[in-house]
Amino acid sequence: RMLAAWLARPLLDIDAINARLDGVAALLDDAPARNMIADRLAGTGDMERAVSRLQLDRGGPRDLLTIVACLKAGDTLVADLPSGRSALLDEASRHLGLSSSPALAELAIHLHAMLGTEAPILARDGGFVRAGFDATLDDAIALRDDARRLIAALQASVSEAAGLPLKVRHNGVFGFFIEATPKQAEALLAPPLNQRFIHRQTLASAVRFTTPELIDLDARTARAAETALARELELFAQACAMVADVADPLRSYAATLASVDVLTGLASHASQTGAVRPVVDDSTTLSITAGRHPVVEAALRKSGEAFTANDCLLDGDGSQGARLTFVTGPNMAGKSTWLRQCALLAILAQTGAFVPAAAMRLGLVDRVFSRVGASDDLARGQSTFMVEMVETAAILNRAGPRALVILDEIGRGTATYDGLAIAWAVAEHLHDVNRSRALFATHYHELTALAGTLNACSNVSLSAREWEGDLIFLREVQAGAADRSYGVQVAQLAGLPAAAVSRAREVLTRLETGDGARPGTLDDLPLFAAPTAPSHQSSRTDPRLQALAQAVRQLDPDSIAPRDALDALYALKREFGDL
Ligand code: ADP
Ligand code: MG
Repeated sequence: RMLAAWLARPLLDIDAINARLDGVAALLDDAPARNMIADRLAGTGDMERAVSRLQLDRGGPRDLLTIVACLKAGDTLVADLPSGRSALLDEASRHLGLSSSPALAELAIHLHAMLGTEAPILARDGGFVRAGFDATLDDAIALRDDARRLIAALQASVSEAAGLPLKVRHNGVFGFFIEATPKQAEALLAPPLNQRFIHRQTLASAVRFTTPELIDLDARTARAAETALARELELFAQACAMVADVADPLRSYAATLASVDVLTGLASHASQTGAVRPVVDDSTTLSITAGRHPVVEAALRKSGEAFTANDCLLDGDGSQGARLTFVTGPNMAGKSTWLRQCALLAILAQTGAFVPAAAMRLGLVDRVFSRVGASDDLARGQSTFMVEMVETAAILNRAGPRALVILDEIGRGTATYDGLAIAWAVAEHLHDVNRSRALFATHYHELTALAGTLNACSNVSLSAREWEGDLIFLREVQAGAADRSYGVQVAQLAGLPAAAVSRAREVLTRLETGDGARPGTLDDLPLFAAPTAPSHQSSRTDPRLQALAQAVRQLDPDSIAPRDALDALYALKREFGDL
């Protein structure tokens, strides 16, 4: 929960970020400390929840055990924590050492003395208080156990008296009773034994009896067991009251323990993945050398594939790098991954975590905006395009010069020219008005021309090579715009039927060679927006279509007789029906 809270609220204060980074760094350098801390924490539990449950009267002995385990772990942790290297860890040491909190120390000693190593979830199950902790309880238990011993002795004596191997049993309804087989029961029901044995119940396979001594002993054990449990519940309530008295200090103790846990986790993760300490300053740069997407990398590693690391350079004031960078390249090339990776690394850095990269410098980001993925929000009555525009509007209205914006394909949910026009205007607005650092993935290759006119704008691309009919993705972010999108090849990879793929190739070729009035790079033009020009043009040149046009022109519907009209229709059908 603490890790999630940190990630959900990255810090805006450079000193606070560095304080966390110092903690991670100190633990990263001290593997033995990390292992000790992890070991000690593994034996604890969720102290925060345990305290809340106990306060709400919903807790049990096991929650008390959790609290004492956490206090003990925290107190011993102090010796493991690297000292003098991180203000946060030094502060944690001071806080976790129980010698500095007498009230918590007292609680820990009390709970330690009271509880064994195991405890039931519910107090009413009893049996959780250690022997020797409380004299009243010990007496009640001795009495109860004594009565049990007497019952065992009674079983022997009645068996002897009856000359039969009888059994004393116990259930919730009768308490203790003597059980006999139907055959044994005959003897017990007859004089002289019926003087002593009182019949209780006859079952198919057994007959139950009791005796005056057993009735007496049964009452004594029940009373003793009741007294013991009542005393245990009293002791439990006392302990709960002690916990309630220090609930706030316990919560803050739990929070400190959790921060140490998170810092240790971040350090272990950094050591496993080779993450490095980011430099966070008040510049407007975002510079990542050999960055990796932590989640995609981990997923690829599972299937034995390597992740290709990539750089990123943005600068809000345009001096070190571009403020706005367009990302082009084929589908599946890795554009979205790279965009998200850059934003994720910024968030990680400001969380105080090390980042999966060879190096990173981050000028503080005050907000991260993203427009990624296409999700309908039909339940709220919004189409994909509407959602996209609402999100884009929010970005243009709110992003400032310290924001980091990632836009993954804007304007795809509408007609091509609409979309291009919107994307174009959004890019200019971001660059000139918002002045945020921004990465903009797009299939509108026309946009890449903006790098020539906007002063702090650049292009990068991810490329693919066609090799023996297959596409090989290089996964490398390079300077410059991509030449094409390879949409049809990717569709083929995805298993589109061969006929549809070859038809798409045809249409693409026609669109690309177009009428010259259109830019030649609209290769991902949505088909529904395909212009009718090519077919219109071919009707001008096809002689049979011209003949058809001629024949139609010659018909005069106002003067033709019905009979002749029908004939003309048959003639047209005969001549041109195969067109
Ligand atoms: P695009 O947005 O360009 O269509 P994605 O970012 O969705 O492409 O990437 C497609 C897939 O390529 C990812 O799911 C991932 O498996 C793989 N991939 C992306 N980037 C990399 C990388 N840098 N190294 C290795 N594999 C990658
Ligand atoms: Mg994508």
